[in-house]
Amino acid sequence: MAGIIFLGPPGSGKGTQAQILAQSLAIPHISTGEILREAITNQTELGKQAKAYVDGGELVPDELLLDLIRERLSQPDAQTSWILDGFPRNIAQAAFLDELVAELGQSCQWAIDLKVPQAVLIQRLLLRGRKDDTEETVRRRLEVYEEKTAPLIEYYQQRGKLHSIDGDRTPEEVAEALKVLVS
Ligand code: ADP
Repeated sequence: MAGIIFLGPPGSGKGTQAQILAQSLAIPHISTGEILREAITNQTELGKQAKAYVDGGELVPDELLLDLIRERLSQPDAQTSWILDGFPRNIAQAAFLDELVAELGQSCQWAIDLKVPQAVLIQRLLLRGRKDDTEETVRRRLEVYEEKTAPLIEYYQQRGKLHSIDGDRTPEEVAEALKVLVS
């Protein structure tokens, strides 16, 4: 086994699916969104610097996350396998990750794109009602996704790592499809 990246727009279910898959494979689930939300709640230095971006639906500056990812992937439990959820989110982060993984002697095997129609995404995000899920931020996050993160689909396709999965099904069905894919 090796590293797995979850792509997919906000509301695609990547957090839920990454967690289920990490548990069934017994490998670390590393969610940058969760790390940032926890940092904001605990008012750490990272949280203070990230808050305005997260609340506004913008990406936080890359430099806030790069060292953090480097440290996390250097931990003993992440030496062979991990799931990254929410990272990379732009081409610069993807290039950083490629270099980091090579430097650490690791490899990334799958980039999974969860496909969900835009109308379903909006409905799910507004129902979810997380603090950064107001109507305006939801719209902004989807725009940022199209602009910054969607280009990663081609990036990983060119590297032969991309797998698209239909995310417009029940969580159980999506989880089963993912399990089959990585087994
Ligand atoms: P969602 O899956 O709904 O997009 P996440 O929990 O993955 O939510 O991320 C929430 C917020 O955290 C993002 O809107 C963004 O502000 C910030 N964030 C998470 N990951 C990154 C990243 N890799 N680069 C920059 N900002 C990030």
